[in-house]
Amino acid sequence: MPTSGPSNLWRATSAEALDAPPLANDSAVDLAIVGGGFTGCSAALEAARGGATVALLEAETIGHGGSGRNVGLVNAGLWLPPRDVLKILGDADGTRLIKALSNGPDIVFDLIEREGIDCEPVRRGTIHLAHSAAGLKGLRARFEQGTLAGRHYELLDAADTAQRTGSMRFTGSLRDPGAGTIQPLAYCRGLARAAQIAGAELHEKSPVTSITRSGGDWMLEAAGHRVKAKALLIATNAYQTHFGAPFAQEFIPVHYSQFATVPMPDDLRARILPDGEGCWDTALIMSSFRTDRAGRLILGGIGNAEGAGARVHSGWARRKLSELYPDLAHLPFEHHWAGRIAMTSDHVPKIVAPGPSALAIFGYSGRGICPGTVFGMKAARALLGGTDGDLPLPVLSGHGESLTRAKAAWYEFGATATHAVFPHPLSRRQ
Ligand SMILES: Cc1cc2nc3c(=O)[nH]c(=O)nc-3n(C[C@H](O)[C@H](O)[C@H](O)COP(=O)(O)OP(=O)(O)OC[C@H]3O[C@@H](n4cnc5c(N)ncnc54)[C@H](O)[C@@H]3O)c2cc1C
Repeated sequence: MPTSGPSNLWRATSAEALDAPPLANDSAVDLAIVGGGFTGCSAALEAARGGATVALLEAETIGHGGSGRNVGLVNAGLWLPPRDVLKILGDADGTRLIKALSNGPDIVFDLIEREGIDCEPVRRGTIHLAHSAAGLKGLRARFEQGTLAGRHYELLDAADTAQRTGSMRFTGSLRDPGAGTIQPLAYCRGLARAAQIAGAELHEKSPVTSITRSGGDWMLEAAGHRVKAKALLIATNAYQTHFGAPFAQEFIPVHYSQFATVPMPDDLRARILPDGEGCWDTALIMSSFRTDRAGRLILGGIGNAEGAGARVHSGWARRKLSELYPDLAHLPFEHHWAGRIAMTSDHVPKIVAPGPSALAIFGYSGRGICPGTVFGMKAARALLGGTDGDLPLPVLSGHGESLTRAKAAWYEFGATATHAVFPHPLSRRQ
């Protein structure tokens, strides 16, 4: 059985810690950042290293949102294959985005090394697993498109996939040897620590409650104090708390939950993901698995393990683990937790300008470690003397989504129904 209450593994094991007291006085800065996830912390680091004065305000604690809850797969590009990106954005903008994100893992792992971030980095690849014959066909198409986009992917057959994962469940897979895994909360805290060392002011427990324009500057209110800023970055993604004007983000909130076992015995560690790759599959109701430094197996799937369907998702996790790894059938789970993904209808992130010298970035649609790091960095440059042309995407004046609540309920219903009947007889063998 899972643990009695939710507990986030990444919080329990982060080797990176931080001291960022609440905002305690009024200040004036070049750049104010709302939100302390990958996007906000990367922007703070880039801006402070460039000599700007920076105040980052975080409602809870650094990494409270998706950045401290995710799987930790450091993948290049978006979740969408390159051809779909080009179809949605057109050749010029699509190519610009693909180029900006194609070396995302290099940027993240180089930053980790440069700043000495203690976040369990393992750069030995990630594996996209075929859950069905259709999934395998899709992976072949991704292989071709990835190769055209300059990635050095490997298509693995069933035997190689079984050897790398230790599971007999898959008929093939696509491996990206340049990708890898991290402890995501520790990475986020490490970015924040590096930003502080570079001179940025970071404040936890400082929810921004109002943002207004005043005399050509932005005025933010948080924790009973005011920050005046020449430029503004809103980096709250799926976790934005209400601050009214200047702009309301619209996206579809989709939950994803993870379940971590106690550390595996040594003989199983040698057979299960022996090289430490992180994995996810091609199913519509997707799942993922990886290990951490201590040798826990961390299994994830769409659905909210902290919501009404908690028992269904927990039961699924137990059965899914047994199916993937019969030897782990009785290994207890010691942590489980959920996170919220900001999905857009076309699965492309959005950069919106809520006013002059201001950007809001959101909608990573489940692929945000490299994109958040890159978008944050580039947003800082664009806001502090650069141009919109420095950004990976064109800046929009707004972004609307329809029926977001209904679509979110549909995702959760689909995940709960799928997990309730798992393993479905037709999904057993491909
Ligand atoms: C369960 C899960 C698994 C995922 N797995 C992966 C993965 O393996 N690989 C990958 O690349 N991506 C993954 N993602 C996506 C990735 O985690 C996100 O895209 C990324 O974390 C977004 O970063 P961010 O900085 O934009 O937002 P967040 O990390 O969500 O940070 C936003 C912050 O803003 C703060 N905030 C909100 N309102 C206010 C306010 N009014 N005042 C001050 N602060 C405020 C919040 O408290 C929060 O800390 C996953 C996401 C989830 C949820």
